[in-house]
Amino acid sequence: MARAPRALVIGGSLGGLFAANLLLRRGWDVRVFEQSAQPLAGRGAGIITHPDLFSALEHIGINTSEGIGVDIEGRVAFAGDGSVLGTLPIRQCLTTWGRLHELLLAAFPADRYHLGHACSSVEQDAAEVRVVFANGNEARGELLIGADGIRSVVRAAVAPDTRPQYAGYIAWRGLAEERLLSAATRHDLFPKFAFSLAPREHMLGYPVAGFGNSTRPGERCFNFVWYRPTDAQQELPLLCTDREGRRHDMSIPPPLLRDEVIAQMRTDAAERLSPQFAEVVAKTRQPFFQVIFDLESPRMNAGRIALLGDAAFVARPHVGMGVSKAAGDAMALTAALREDSDIAVALAGYSKQRACFGSAVIHHARALGAYLQAGSDPERAAAAMLHTPQAVMRDIAVTRDYSG
Ligand SMILES: Cc1cc2nc3c(=O)[nH]c(=O)nc-3n(C[C@H](O)[C@H](O)[C@H](O)COP(=O)(O)OP(=O)(O)OC[C@H]3O[C@@H](n4cnc5c(N)ncnc54)[C@H](O)[C@@H]3O)c2cc1C
Repeated sequence: MARAPRALVIGGSLGGLFAANLLLRRGWDVRVFEQSAQPLAGRGAGIITHPDLFSALEHIGINTSEGIGVDIEGRVAFAGDGSVLGTLPIRQCLTTWGRLHELLLAAFPADRYHLGHACSSVEQDAAEVRVVFANGNEARGELLIGADGIRSVVRAAVAPDTRPQYAGYIAWRGLAEERLLSAATRHDLFPKFAFSLAPREHMLGYPVAGFGNSTRPGERCFNFVWYRPTDAQQELPLLCTDREGRRHDMSIPPPLLRDEVIAQMRTDAAERLSPQFAEVVAKTRQPFFQVIFDLESPRMNAGRIALLGDAAFVARPHVGMGVSKAAGDAMALTAALREDSDIAVALAGYSKQRACFGSAVIHHARALGAYLQAGSDPERAAAAMLHTPQAVMRDIAVTRDYSG
């Protein structure tokens, strides 16, 4: 009997696990290699859901009927004094990175998920692809999937000139426990998708499951994302300087953030945001920041190698598409491999379809975020039109068709 074709997946986050689970169920011999030596569980914050995310979970056989997050019925925008500027009835389900990772990992055989395997190089010929890991191990297969995120190593074999471009702003993020918030703030924020617009900045937030994954009132968290223009030459390096004075490159582990950086951020929140959001920021134990990038690959395939998720395209978070896009990539990849037994041909079809999708998502996200960019880019003046409370509630992180 012919043996099952071997798929090597580099990166054990959500994109890698979507692809690995889907291919496993299609009869592939799949192994996942994750660089982190420690399980990824317990990290991350809130995630917006779109139909592709549910569809991929369903194809894998993960039951979502009991809900994977908090259902909200509408949106609200607050003025600086806390009064309501407007509301909009958009229903959505909000979940967490941790919950999705837990579900996808539980659906995949543990002995096929290898921690502590940082891919250092890949090469291929007509018959197979070979991966070398920093720990000295090697793996061979018929298919290689680069699901290794924005700093992808695999990308060098597919789109070597593609690099992340700093967007000119960062997002402060965090989770505040519902039980720590005042009754007035709980009343205003739960269960809603809320916004607070300051000049050249904006803040949004929504309820998600609490740290024990409970979605019961009182046990949830409020997830916030606060976008702030940040100069690349001076402000960003300072933010990325840790407690011991060491400089990190464009990101810093949350526990290493300096106390004075967090204190200044909380002071700014009190001055610039609605009181509801200022309280959320004040009561978030471990805020962290994410540097906002654009990444756009011209292609997602090279022979037997495919890129997927953030390894190929990273859109600014205003579209809330990171996880759903990775889920959609994984479904399209599996479908292409089912339709064509020639792997290189199948991957070319996959790339053609999903690169168009990725570009459409990136361009929309860039338009939504242009208002926040530092400097005097004329794009920003035009983008200010998109920054009214009604437009922000209507356009940010809503489901939209990018396939046309
Ligand atoms: C721990 C964690 C927490 C996150 N939390 C959130 C969140 O709260 N909200 C949100 O919107 N997005 C979050 N993200 C990002 C989100 O997962 C992605 O935007 C989206 O799901 C696409 O996922 P991805 O798998 O393509 O990329 P990523 O999620 O970035 O995953 C890439 C994976 O590849 C691994 N990797 C990188 N290089 C190598 C290498 N050389 N060899 C082997 N492995 C490698 C990384 O360690 C990582 O696990 C998080 C990502 C991670 C890794």
